[in-house]
Amino acid sequence: MVAEAAEMALLPTIQVDDKKCSDPLNCRLCLLACPTRVLGLGTNVAPQKYKETDLSHFVVRGVRYQFCTACHKCVDVCPHGAIAVSFDGGVTA
Ligand code: SF4
Ligand code: SF4
Repeated sequence: MVAEAAEMALLPTIQVDDKKCSDPLNCRLCLLACPTRVLGLGTNVAPQKYKETDLSHFVVRGVRYQFCTACHKCVDVCPHGAIAVSFDGGVTA
């Protein structure tokens, strides 16, 4: 139980500002830069039958948090300053 809590404490907070990250489908620089594939590209709406998802609904999110090494390569490569990674429960990057 103690070890479990310690492991959970190491998980990062990954925040993406969707207003700044306006075209992730065409950018994807952070996803390509992350050496451990922590980030994922998805949509913030459920898929609708026979209807294409509008590009504005695509978002970048942390997915495999446990593999984040805090290298900040995603932060450095983002041209719009849209992504922040922190291990202290707050945002430092
Ligand atoms: S800080 Fe490094 S390991 Fe973590 S999500 Fe960003 S690029 Fe990936
Ligand atoms: S690098 Fe920045 S703008 Fe590009 S997809 Fe990632 S968060 Fe969005």
